[in-house]
Amino acid sequence: MRTTAFHLVTRKETPQDAEIVSHQLMIRAGLIRKLGAGLYTWSPLGMRVLQKVENIIREEMNAAGALEMLMPAVQPKELWEETGRIADFGGQLLAIQDRAERDYFFGPTHEEVITDFVRNEINSYKQLPINFYQIQTKFRDEIRPRFGVMRSREFIMKDAYSFHLDTESLEQTYQVMKQAYSNIIKRIGLDFRCVLADSGAIGGSGSQEFHVIADSGEDAIMYSDQGEYAANLEKCEAVSLIDNRNTAEQDVKKVHTPEVKTIEAVSDFLKVESTQTIKTLLVAGVDGPVALVVRGDHNLNEVKANNLACVASPLRMLNDDEIKQVAGCDAGSIGVKDLNCHIVVDRTVANMNDFVCGANETDYHLTGMNWDRDAVYQAVEDIRDAQVGDPSPDGVGVLKVARGIEVGHIFQLGSKYSKAMNAVVLNEQGKSQAMEMGCYGMGVTRMVAAAIEQNHDDKGIIWPANIAPFGVAILPMNYQKSERVKRAADDLYEALQAQGIEVILDDRKVRPGFMMSDFELLGVPHQVIIGDRSLDENNIEYRSRINMASEKISRDTIESFLMEKIQA
Ligand code: ATP
Ligand code: MG
Repeated sequence: MRTTAFHLVTRKETPQDAEIVSHQLMIRAGLIRKLGAGLYTWSPLGMRVLQKVENIIREEMNAAGALEMLMPAVQPKELWEETGRIADFGGQLLAIQDRAERDYFFGPTHEEVITDFVRNEINSYKQLPINFYQIQTKFRDEIRPRFGVMRSREFIMKDAYSFHLDTESLEQTYQVMKQAYSNIIKRIGLDFRCVLADSGAIGGSGSQEFHVIADSGEDAIMYSDQGEYAANLEKCEAVSLIDNRNTAEQDVKKVHTPEVKTIEAVSDFLKVESTQTIKTLLVAGVDGPVALVVRGDHNLNEVKANNLACVASPLRMLNDDEIKQVAGCDAGSIGVKDLNCHIVVDRTVANMNDFVCGANETDYHLTGMNWDRDAVYQAVEDIRDAQVGDPSPDGVGVLKVARGIEVGHIFQLGSKYSKAMNAVVLNEQGKSQAMEMGCYGMGVTRMVAAAIEQNHDDKGIIWPANIAPFGVAILPMNYQKSERVKRAADDLYEALQAQGIEVILDDRKVRPGFMMSDFELLGVPHQVIIGDRSLDENNIEYRSRINMASEKISRDTIESFLMEKIQA
């Protein structure tokens, strides 16, 4: 490709709404352009990268035995009524009507559509197992679209759905998909981790996420410093930090604590460690309000709380009026003594003694509180965020944290959708049976942003070789005027093209400095600079985008030198 025959429009300024590096660089390099909130156009340059990612995904999915297909983006509302998922997806669903005022959604995911396809196509166990996939556009009306294509509203996902006669077969395909996902991200060239995950609105039993490790990642990944354990913070089990509850030593005392509202203020005021205090949070329950209690220095884990059977979903904190009704005080003074509602305590809290809590009277706290003697709880659950330094739940080492970008999520759904939509097969005994199902999502557009987030420097993008828009950039100095430079550049360009290398020759009439900084920004892995001065010595200058170190290579060997670099 010659730049004059291509579309290359770079920008110096960083767009104002671009908070993270990948978003900034994608705009500056001209990979994407914003159309509206969460809506982006992919330029021909961006498309070259996107297609490489797609092709790697496609090859690995095919190799894993999945079958490519394509489903419509627009889905009839009735399908979503069958599974009752409209409420789960809430505001993320983009509703549309046709001219006859029939209702549709622009698909955020395709469990309903594939299950409808399968219930009509598959009726015998002999057709199982089977795994379908597509690479297709989704729409989710995200509350806060941000970070460019990292969290956009319209995006491309690879979604696969497998169907099975039994859970054993599901488990097998799940493992095959897990391996395929690892292969894909390795081939793309990114550092990643596979972690235990919460199943969220998709539902089902087991699930794991694939995270590209990057400081700007929205997710916290907890992992053992010594063992194999790794989980999304949303899911990471938090163990009790106190092995056995000690016996009560203090009596309950009521203390006047005016204007002391936060845990920090309480522990300052009372001169106790925050680990000696508890936080009582009131939320809406399925059967009246529920109190969720964590240690003062711990955070409530909203995903775990939302998953409790007694808690109404989606999780909702009671407002000040409701708190007054239930506890008789302001939010800052709620406590567990004589609190008339269902009380769920965290594992650590259940083992605390002589603790401090609100007195259920505005501006008062209680010290010397002890379970059984002064208050009772109805249940002990894991409801807090695990913290760095906690023992790893598998007993090996302690937890550390890394930031991750979720690029993939694999689920064992079981029969949730097949039962709801009556997707059944006849088994070997001729009896009708609901199919077991798995689903496997991967963010294709997000993967490109994640790759940049992990591979850049202050000058621009450093593409991993397998997804670079071009393998080699030829940057001639004075191409327009020096016949010798032009010939050397054209010769190398043709030679590399004949070898099947994706090469871009910058034949624009621009200043050398401008050209160099453009290609630093664009991140082409191998760059050759051709100028009269080096040609005098029969040399060509080579620079690797990784470290920008420049080497002089003889004109006679430059082609084989580049071939070797590319194949390395
Ligand atoms: P997140 O927690 O980031 O919102 P999710 O759990 O909603 O993701 P899934 O429903 O599992 O995501 O979708 C599969 C994949 O699609 C995700 O792993 C992610 O890579 C991608 N994806 C999801 N939402 C978006 C989005 N708004 N923009 C770009 N990619 C997305
Ligand atoms: Mg989401």
